[in-house]
Amino acid sequence: MRFRFAFPALASLLFAAAMLGGCASRSQAVCDADPMASWAWELPSPPPPPMAWVAAGPFRHGERTPENVTAIVIHTTEGRYDDALSFAENQERNFAGVIGYFKSNDRNVSSHYVMGRHGEICQMVNEGDIAHAQTYYNGRAFGIECAGWSRHEETWTPELLDSLVDLCAYLCVKWEIPAYHPEGTAYEGPYSVVVDEENKRFVAHGLVGHYQVQPWNKSDPGEHFPWEEFSERVRARIREYGVEPIELPSPEASQAREVFATARIKEKPVRAGEPFTYALTVRGEGVETLATEDIIFPDFSVIKDLAVAGPPSRTESSPNLVVYEITLSRPEAGAFSIGASRVKFKGAWYDTQTVRVKVE
Ligand SMILES: [Zn+2]
Repeated sequence: MRFRFAFPALASLLFAAAMLGGCASRSQAVCDADPMASWAWELPSPPPPPMAWVAAGPFRHGERTPENVTAIVIHTTEGRYDDALSFAENQERNFAGVIGYFKSNDRNVSSHYVMGRHGEICQMVNEGDIAHAQTYYNGRAFGIECAGWSRHEETWTPELLDSLVDLCAYLCVKWEIPAYHPEGTAYEGPYSVVVDEENKRFVAHGLVGHYQVQPWNKSDPGEHFPWEEFSERVRARIREYGVEPIELPSPEASQAREVFATARIKEKPVRAGEPFTYALTVRGEGVETLATEDIIFPDFSVIKDLAVAGPPSRTESSPNLVVYEITLSRPEAGAFSIGASRVKFKGAWYDTQTVRVKVE
């Protein structure tokens, strides 16, 4: 509670510009919760930069500590661009619109922070909780959505970048995150790890782009984001606090801290009336100790006409890998989704992706 702010005053200032964009009604629930309420411990750290608070709808409660938070993922919001408006107007409208969207949406997405072109910072998920911004990096990362478009260099206004430096420096010091931009993506580079035959994962700590975490469907924040200059500025800011930035861990050290949970259907194609296998793979250091009660499988009963042949069986186990399999079948053709499995390991929860099944 050492770093409390006068949120109402700041919030109204910060949102004045955004509200001009026509989304005022979506942004009015400022200050309806206390973003500092979940600070679980006290570390020597600089105060956070000025920011507003609007509570996100989708998020998960977490009890995160610097031990399991290792990265900041930087995004651009993307979304609708209206050619009849100026770039600035589009960006202001986007900022307000995204905040409104994260307050409540049916895609279950959110972010810890949303930033605007004038340097506004809006926090939407508590630091210790988990936002839904970057799939398998959610638990270990802060997501920062910058209002703008990766294809537009004008997204990166000096004011936005200045605030982003301040926010990242604050988070890096408090959460012991390296203020370096690692190389590569989940597909290639020293921090790419093969989890199973269909899945590769990125394991780097530090200041990360969404394109590195999900190279299969994301490219933000895009080629105009000045990674080198930016991370250097974050380190300089950290030194101004009298703190020496911590180094980027080696790929081996990064991987040693990782746990991955992935789910897949083993048979392709899946045929109507024939059994098929939902396989949950968990890989990471020491996962052979995983207990069945530390796994929450999806609720298969909510899927129409899906037959589940008995409880999960443990088919494989080694010092860093366990695989559980569940046999399923469905009498008729059609497509459906199986929700995420959750795995608890060393006190933290890891989610799998949702699996889409097409029955032929
Ligand atoms: Zn993104």
